[in-house]
Amino acid sequence: MKDILLLGAHISIAGGLHKALLAGKEIEATTIQIFTANHRTWASKQVPEDEIILFHQALADTGLSHIMSHSSYLINLGSPRLDVRQKSLTAFRQEILRSLALGITYINFHPGAALDSPVEECLNVICEALLSMADCFDKRHQLHLLIETMAGGGSVIGARFEEIAYIIDAVKGVLPIGVCMDTCHTFTAGYDIRTEETLASTLNEFDRVIGLNYLKAMHLNDSANEFASRKDRHAPIGEGMIGKGGFSAIMKEPRLASLPKYLETPGGLDVWKTEIAWLKRQIP
Ligand SMILES: [Zn+2]
Ligand SMILES: [Zn+2]
Repeated sequence: MKDILLLGAHISIAGGLHKALLAGKEIEATTIQIFTANHRTWASKQVPEDEIILFHQALADTGLSHIMSHSSYLINLGSPRLDVRQKSLTAFRQEILRSLALGITYINFHPGAALDSPVEECLNVICEALLSMADCFDKRHQLHLLIETMAGGGSVIGARFEEIAYIIDAVKGVLPIGVCMDTCHTFTAGYDIRTEETLASTLNEFDRVIGLNYLKAMHLNDSANEFASRKDRHAPIGEGMIGKGGFSAIMKEPRLASLPKYLETPGGLDVWKTEIAWLKRQIP
C-alpha cells in the first residue's frame, strides 16, 4: 500500500507554479495543494503558456499526482450581495480554466457564507452558482470540484454534513462534485475524530448523510481550539486538540487509505517533511 500513498502539503508557488512541485518532491510528498493565483486579490489571470509547459514538465519529472488547487479566500458563491457574487462567479470560472490548463485534479473551495441571508436561500444561491459552471466541464476532464468541510464560525455554510449533502444533491449528475474533509474544521464543527472509534462513527455519519463515495480528499490539520468550538485555527499534527491518536487513527482507517491528504499546518517545508514521515509510520 505504501507505494500508492498520496500525502503532501499546501506549498507556496513563489517563483513559479512548478517550483511548488519540486519543493513537494524534496519533502517526500507524493501530491501537493497550491493556489493557482494570488488568493487575496480579485484580479486573476490565466497562466502564461510557458508556465503551463513548465508545470507539466515538473509533474512528469517529480511523479507527483492528484494536485489540488485551493480556490481564492475572497470567493463567496453564496453572497447575498450581487456585486460580490458576480466577482465570485468570474473568479471561480477563471480558477476552473486555470486548473484545466494545468492538469489539476481537484479544486477545493469554501462553499460560502450566508451573511444576513437565510441559510436555505444561501444554499440555493451556491447551487445555482455551481450549476452555471457546467459548460466548463466535459467527460474528458479529471477535474473535480470539492466542497471543503468548514468549522462553521459566523454565517459560514458547510459545517453540517446536511448542508454539504444539500449542495451535492442539487448539482450531482451535472458537475463532477465531491468533498474534501478538513480534520480541524470537522472536529471543531462537532464531529469527533480523536480515536479510532469516534473517527469510525464520524465516517458512518458522513456516509449516512452525504455518502462516502463523495469523499475524495482530506486536509490534515490539528486544531488549536477545542472540540465543537466552531473555530478555525490549525495546529501542527499531534500538538493540538485532536492529538496524535486522531491522526494515527486516520492513517489506519481503511476507508481513508486511498484518499489524497494535504497538510495545511503552520510551519514550512521542514515541518511538513517531519509530519509526512510521522504520518507514514502510522500506517499498519
Ligand atoms: Zn480551506
Ligand atoms: Zn482551516
